[in-house]
Amino acid sequence: MAVEVYIVGHWCGSFEARLQAASAIRIKVCLVGPAEPTPEELQKRDIFGAHYDEGRITRILDDAPACEVLSQHSISRYRELEKLSGINFYEPVGCLFTGPRNDKFIRACIASSAVYKVPLVKMEGNEETFKRRYPYLKLESDEVALLDDAVGGHISPRNLVAAQKRVAHLQGCHIIESVVCGMETQSDGIHVVETESKGEIKAKRLLIATGGFVNLKNMSVLKPLVVKRLKETVVLFKLPEDEVQRLSSMPSMISVRDNNNGAYILPPIKYPDGQYYLKFGKLRAQEDDDELKTLEELREWYLSDGDSEIETYIQFIIDLIPGLNFNSLSRRTCVTCNTPSGLPYIDRVSPTVTVAVAGNGKGAKFSDEVGRIAAHFSLTGKWDSELSQGLFEATYQ
Ligand SMILES: Cc1cc2nc3c(=O)[nH]c(=O)nc-3n(C[C@H](O)[C@H](O)[C@H](O)COP(=O)(O)OP(=O)(O)OC[C@H]3O[C@@H](n4cnc5c(N)ncnc54)[C@H](O)[C@@H]3O)c2cc1C
Repeated sequence: MAVEVYIVGHWCGSFEARLQAASAIRIKVCLVGPAEPTPEELQKRDIFGAHYDEGRITRILDDAPACEVLSQHSISRYRELEKLSGINFYEPVGCLFTGPRNDKFIRACIASSAVYKVPLVKMEGNEETFKRRYPYLKLESDEVALLDDAVGGHISPRNLVAAQKRVAHLQGCHIIESVVCGMETQSDGIHVVETESKGEIKAKRLLIATGGFVNLKNMSVLKPLVVKRLKETVVLFKLPEDEVQRLSSMPSMISVRDNNNGAYILPPIKYPDGQYYLKFGKLRAQEDDDELKTLEELREWYLSDGDSEIETYIQFIIDLIPGLNFNSLSRRTCVTCNTPSGLPYIDRVSPTVTVAVAGNGKGAKFSDEVGRIAAHFSLTGKWDSELSQGLFEATYQ
């Protein structure tokens, strides 16, 4: 019997959907995708994941109301997923948004929080509380701070994926660690998935969730989508122990300054080398040479050190956290996958092929709900969300 193949990534990792899938008699589910490469394997790889990291901001508050709903549902399942898998990935340390009082991002967050009744603490007028809670942060006099304190914080995307895979496995999902290098459909409608190292798999249904690498391998079952893959560089500040202590109350942060100049900042997080790093990435207007189009361009970017002009990164963080004490800094690269609507694509390409891609730089936190909706859609053909299906329709080139 042919399996239902879920092609990779944590979007297809909705454990709830897998619970349903596994309990539905005679449905076999299998997840195909390579594990994170070891340093020795890096040079041989051409496929990477955007989740190879320890810190992603999680929050409900967003300038897009649909993302708030996806996040609400995903976050509400984090603890259950941790419990079922035995793998922790969620730290609800809060998420603080700062920016000029009349900034459009700040205004959009306030407006959309009202739409879906997102709990939000406005720190405006609470300067004393703000200083007591975050004595090391310095805001400009015209800046306001909004706190998503109910569930905001950070997740380890690496551990989230590990937890989803663990629960999937416990539910009977077959996990095949390999890269898919071809997909074709036979005349009887069965899909043939060719892997680089584990042979062929025959499947009645496909769910393609390959992130920024969508359409870059030989996947004739999916027409080219309209997506922009953009370069991202983050800077990791390695902190000494006393600085980790000083910043111990720090939340995740999205900080907007003037002229589209902004940043996202993860508080000190322990990395696999046992050291604590504060992570900083810029929110900035996209430039022409930020776009990556080919598999080789993506590969080169992932293997590079990224943007070398990091003085502005350092200045931004020093302005926000005066006197930040760090031992050293390093750069890491990543790629975001973006759609014109700013929302992910969750769509049926045909009755047996479904796609779920494009996190628009903020998809880790709500990936579980995207995966649940997509897996349900793939299996049943039914759209199971209060959000309109049309919002997530794929656009093709
Ligand atoms: C620098 C940076 C910072 C970010 N910060 C945040 C944040 O703070 N909060 C947040 O929520 N989100 C954030 N994001 C976005 C988030 O990481 C992504 O939206 C999310 O990882 C997308 O999930 P995905 O499963 O679609 O893609 P990925 O995580 O990239 O996973 C795709 C998977 O598909 C596999 N794959 C690809 N092609 C193939 C193939 N041919 N065969 C087999 N397997 C294949 C890959 O190996 C990978 O495992 C950030 C992204 C970047 C780059």
